[in-house]
Amino acid sequence: MTVTQFPVPVSSRMAAVRGSAIRDLLTLTARPDVISLAGGLPAADLLPRARIAEAVAEALTDPAAVQYGETAGSARLREVLAAHESARQHRPLQAGEVLVTSGSQQALDLVARATLDAGDPVVVEDPAYVGALQVFQAAGARLVPVPVDAAGMRVDELADRLAAGLRPRLVHTVSTFHNPRGVTLSDPRRRELARLADRYGFLVVEDDPYGLLAFDGAPPVPVAAHGTRVVRLGSASKVLAPALRVGWLTGPAEVRAAVERLRQGADLCGSTLTQLVAAELLADTAWFDAHLARLRAAGAARAAAFTGAVAELLPGVTCSAATGGMFCWLEFPAGTDTAAALPAALEAGVGFVPGSAFAVDGGLESAARCCFASHPEGVLRTAVQRLAAVLTGRPT
Ligand code: PMP
Repeated sequence: MTVTQFPVPVSSRMAAVRGSAIRDLLTLTARPDVISLAGGLPAADLLPRARIAEAVAEALTDPAAVQYGETAGSARLREVLAAHESARQHRPLQAGEVLVTSGSQQALDLVARATLDAGDPVVVEDPAYVGALQVFQAAGARLVPVPVDAAGMRVDELADRLAAGLRPRLVHTVSTFHNPRGVTLSDPRRRELARLADRYGFLVVEDDPYGLLAFDGAPPVPVAAHGTRVVRLGSASKVLAPALRVGWLTGPAEVRAAVERLRQGADLCGSTLTQLVAAELLADTAWFDAHLARLRAAGAARAAAFTGAVAELLPGVTCSAATGGMFCWLEFPAGTDTAAALPAALEAGVGFVPGSAFAVDGGLESAARCCFASHPEGVLRTAVQRLAAVLTGRPT
């Protein structure tokens, strides 16, 4: 019998999907001697394990907790999320208008698959959230980068491109405490973006896992409050725990229906158990508010320690102003190649993500994303000392 050497099939779309430098880096930075500023990991000491354990025990008294559930998510969680999103979006939302997903990453993936045909233009921010780039590349989209400045996406530049004929299907924005840039879309730009969506017929994908981590306790009014052509994504990952894998979306009924149908084929349904846990924790408002206050206070103290150490130990480096979320964006002097410096940094015991990992079409070589949320203040200072030793030649 002759054996034919068929190639193992991989779709042609895969050629366009970049690996995530960040997920690859997580392996390197997991070494115990490395202080990792690379991953967007919520602080281990602030993950509410004891409260989760209580909620799991309570949920398990009901056999439904370990059964398959509805594709759109547990009714109880959808109710709780509808109340939560009604307050955020300043308009009443019913439980049926919220779709639960396996993390907001799944929502992003299903929205892309539900709305895009191959070759469709999708506007992304530059620098971009890498998980969004992967999703849009996998959907065969044509990425159209729009720059980000200190007030978020340059919506004026988007308006110019639209006026010149650009007709995107989707415009993706991490509107609040941007990953990786750390900035927040200003209120006038939010309103203008919603207006442009109505005028030109695209959908805004407002990707907002960080909004509740506003250090001043006042998350900005979402883009979704300003218009109806907005698919808004939320997540329990940064405010409860990533391992729950609970995310959600609100948006036009057509998108919700398509996403639900796709999810039937993707994974049938999410974990009933973790959805019940998320529902219990989010509905326990006294506990949740106190928990959020702890996260915000720790985040603010850590961000202040990190930015203070950068100002002191890395002269000539600009650092984004941190007002919430988890990330600072560092810009080293022109000519610095942060990707080239990374192996030496890891050797010196500190990890970060080079700016080039977030660039849509190349560039950003002299920038770096640093997560300030994962470590206490003293550890962050040591991390910056190590960065300074590698990137400025200063001794630690
Ligand atoms: N959107 C953004 C901007 C993120 O930073 C992340 C997580 N890093 C996600 C979505 C996905 O998070 P999750 O799936 O845990 O909700």
